[in-house]
Amino acid sequence: MDLLNALVDKGLRRELPTREEALAVLATSDDELLDVVAAAGKVRRQWFGRRVKLNYLVNLKSGLCPEDCSYCSQRLGSKAEILKYTWLKPDDASKAAAAGVAGGAKRVCLVASGRGPTDKDVERVSKTISTIKEQNEGIEVCACLGLLSEGQAGRLHEAGADAYNHNLNTSEATYGDICTTHDYSDRVSTVQQAQAAGMSACSGLIAGMGESDADLVDVVFALRELDPDSVPVNFLIPFEGTPLAKEWHLTPQRALRILAMVRFVCPDIEVRLAGGREVHLRSMQPLALHLVNSIFLGDYLTSEGQAGKDDLAMIADAGFEVEGTDTTTLPEHRRAGGCGGGDCGDAESTGSACAGKDAAPAATIPAPPEESRRDLVSVRRRGAGTELPPNA
Ligand code: SF4
Repeated sequence: MDLLNALVDKGLRRELPTREEALAVLATSDDELLDVVAAAGKVRRQWFGRRVKLNYLVNLKSGLCPEDCSYCSQRLGSKAEILKYTWLKPDDASKAAAAGVAGGAKRVCLVASGRGPTDKDVERVSKTISTIKEQNEGIEVCACLGLLSEGQAGRLHEAGADAYNHNLNTSEATYGDICTTHDYSDRVSTVQQAQAAGMSACSGLIAGMGESDADLVDVVFALRELDPDSVPVNFLIPFEGTPLAKEWHLTPQRALRILAMVRFVCPDIEVRLAGGREVHLRSMQPLALHLVNSIFLGDYLTSEGQAGKDDLAMIADAGFEVEGTDTTTLPEHRRAGGCGGGDCGDAESTGSACAGKDAAPAATIPAPPEESRRDLVSVRRRGAGTELPPNA
């Protein structure tokens, strides 16, 4: 297939596909799906071999957010029956993180609900970061605390945060449809503040919120332009009690096409399979390892993932290996700074213009699949904020 050959060549050269090529990947048929996965898999192996980086989420503060992100179970007015608790103490957060590290995670992601941290919150999280770093040698820490104010990124970096996550989530054009309490430019600005402070930026998207193919391509091209080091791809978990509870648009095949498109646009960036993989990819999860080089281990912020030991077995069975703390994730050429592109609560939700935009085919919103698996959505009842051991 000419399209796939062209995309593999570009991916191996770290060259940006055209917007039309990215749209064409999303428009491939089910008959072509394995060819698409194989092609994007070549690009993945060129830059990341068969390594899979494991990341572990610790929800430092859960629920009761004043913002209204419609995909989020922690939002203002959410009726989802999630765990609600205020800031975990540094030792409790470190204990939760240690479970993930023991399970093979090399990055711990410290997440808190809310619009953004106060200076006191930054101080509190700084203590948690140093506690985790003292107790877990060689571990990367990513903070995800929402919109940052002047000077906060620098303070988090000084405290030992290696990275900051804040997702763009969706295209600029549709951002107002999913949130009214802050806007897309606020998010871009926070990612840029994290980069300017010397932290590795992590910023991704949520697919499955009713967006068109053109919206998906827009947000992925915008991310590439922002140049984060890691791009988490969430698939919406339509929580009962949130405005998007009825938005079941994804099939395993579509989820794989989306991941392949992200890989072609971000060939040498850490692409992370994030929230919603169990619900939407289901038994097709191992195929996604040919596209992404990073996943979350165990549970998400407010929902439960598959057992950590099943994540590890899946990686081994598919012929991949867990990346150790002695290995640098990004290829050599990206380590000093970025290539051509971070949040709160978004790792779960599940949580730029470019040339040729006007020439895009008409927007397509896929019809809801007949067989969605609402029964797979499971609210987190263990780990951080509970007396039960975490899943790792
Ligand atoms: S994504 Fe973050 S800011 Fe938005 S509602 Fe959820 S916790 Fe609040």
